[in-house]
Amino acid sequence: MMIRDEIPNLIEGEPVPPLSGEWLDKLCPADGTLLCRLARSGAGDVDAAVQAARTAQPAWAERTPVERGDIVRELALLLRERRDEAAEIVAAETGKPLELALGEADAAVEMGLFVAGEGRRSYGRTTTASMKHRTVLTMRQPLGVAGLIMSFNTPLPNIAWKAFPAIFCGNAAVVKPSEEVPVSALFFAELALEAGVPAGVLNVVQGLGAEAGAALVEHEEVDLVSFTGSAATGRWINERAARRLAKVCLELGGKNALVVCDDADLENAVRWALASAFSNAGQRCAAASRIVVFEDVYDVFRDLLVNGASDLQPEPVISDAALERMLEAIDRAVAGGARRLIGGERLAGPGFHLAPTILENVSPQDEISRTELFGPVTLLYRVGSLDDAIALVNDSPYGLTGAVHTASLHRAMRFAEKTEAGVIVVNGGTHGSEPHMGFGGVKDSGTGWREAGIEALDVYSDWKIVNLIADPALT
Ligand code: NAD
Repeated sequence: MMIRDEIPNLIEGEPVPPLSGEWLDKLCPADGTLLCRLARSGAGDVDAAVQAARTAQPAWAERTPVERGDIVRELALLLRERRDEAAEIVAAETGKPLELALGEADAAVEMGLFVAGEGRRSYGRTTTASMKHRTVLTMRQPLGVAGLIMSFNTPLPNIAWKAFPAIFCGNAAVVKPSEEVPVSALFFAELALEAGVPAGVLNVVQGLGAEAGAALVEHEEVDLVSFTGSAATGRWINERAARRLAKVCLELGGKNALVVCDDADLENAVRWALASAFSNAGQRCAAASRIVVFEDVYDVFRDLLVNGASDLQPEPVISDAALERMLEAIDRAVAGGARRLIGGERLAGPGFHLAPTILENVSPQDEISRTELFGPVTLLYRVGSLDDAIALVNDSPYGLTGAVHTASLHRAMRFAEKTEAGVIVVNGGTHGSEPHMGFGGVKDSGTGWREAGIEALDVYSDWKIVNLIADPALT
């Protein structure tokens, strides 16, 4: 796999250097060496990409949904063919194990195949009318130009979750990937060209959030901003885009809880808690960063969890700055009375590694309980009952996912009903959504939209109600 030294923008199907002439360094999280340099784009580059999208969109929208679905399928199949290369890029950009990156490439492919199927489905509704001879039906309309801005954590699914439905619905798009994963976004957009997506329908502008990202949010001709990232950035985007009444879809952070009841299969609970808290170095919006355990099994569970964490092979976090932020948050928590059970330190050697970290003796009101660290850090809490657990879980600004481990159907259903979250898992991890399942959260985790699933089509299209009056003379 060859990664170019300079990663440009992709506008109207062509690689384009930034107008600023400046390039940003992208380091490998695994060892801190320079991987490549990416275009430092600004408002002028964004404008060129938006104009390209605006120009390409009408002809693209003229194609039938079946044709667009066929092209989306071609792209998914090409990605499947090139999955090894795609995964190698992601492994280099993020430092995650190749195995994990391959799984993510496959998930991106599945999303493409799922969306492609909508070409021959995409059901609407017909309904009744008060007037005779009148038929009422619905049809989906593209929005125009979609600005797609995303996080670094799972680069291929992140772009796939947005780009496939956005273009399938007949929009043209400008992608602003995270500055930490420029290569995979360019790779995806170049594959799209190869698959038959017309030039200008899927453009990529590289650069920093505050520069390229903000310019995309502020651009008058961007009809939809679909964003995956932190709540702080999402809040800013929502405020700015609201000024011109643009549609905004926000998929934000989480402080997801995994609850272990006293009737749980503890080995299973430990296995899922470890995977949920520490896979991808905890850089998942759905990571289990809070683990809530019934008093009666707390000590046994804690020992098993700490033991399990000590056997894990640490994965790097995305950047030195991110690692420093996590270490500072841990230090503040410890200074405030938290007990460090394992981890909490930077690992010696090259790269940006934080040992899997477990803290206890924290209150739900503490800063560390309420802020997302987006790293391999989880907190343990003791509770006396399921209702106490649910109250603690809900005492959070976030509401993305939640899991409960129990043998009781009643407890499982009560947790599912009462927990403020968009996704609930019983006897599994806090993550695990698939391309056909709508994903999203409540409270600071999102604004009510769902990505993936057919719900994603509602983000990237508008419904139109069509009234057909068969014979006006008869009414
Ligand atoms: P971030 O908010 O810092 O950045 C996300 C993206 O927004 C990046 O591309 C960044 O360049 C851009 N950006 C930053 N400031 C901007 C601005 N002012 N205007 C426009 N764009 C701007 O988040 P991150 O650190 O990349 O990602 C981690 C966050 O993403 C976590 O909160 C995580 O939970 C969340 N996330 C959510 C989901 C989900 O589906 N809900 C999935 C993955 C990650």
